[in-house]
Amino acid sequence: MSVQPHVPDVENDSLEDRLYTVKYEDPGESHLDVTLPGLCAERCTTYDCVSVCPAGVWRKGNEGVPEIAYENCLECGSCRWACPHGNVEWSYPGTGSGVTYKKG
Ligand code: SF4
Ligand code: SF4
Repeated sequence: MSVQPHVPDVENDSLEDRLYTVKYEDPGESHLDVTLPGLCAERCTTYDCVSVCPAGVWRKGNEGVPEIAYENCLECGSCRWACPHGNVEWSYPGTGSGVTYKKG
């Protein structure tokens, strides 16, 4: 007989509700890019940048090059490390812009 751990009855906000609390100041230009678009189109089979992003910033484009909705970026850095080809150009948005977390 297995013993089930006690799980407290806590109601968490949905991901959408939590994302709604994030404030974002548009830097006006993307702080994200790919170094070599042809590498994405011709060599990438996994599209880890798409699957790892918690905010849906990266989407597989028609030509095999990702489209990047940088405005939604949470600045977690995951896409930078997930790309198996080191093909993600990543930087923080300019001073005073980017994401602000209400709940830390
Ligand atoms: S994981 Fe890297 S190589 Fe693959 S599509 Fe994304 S940025 Fe391009
Ligand atoms: S830094 Fe995080 S939120 Fe921003 S694009 Fe990369 S994976 Fe998505």
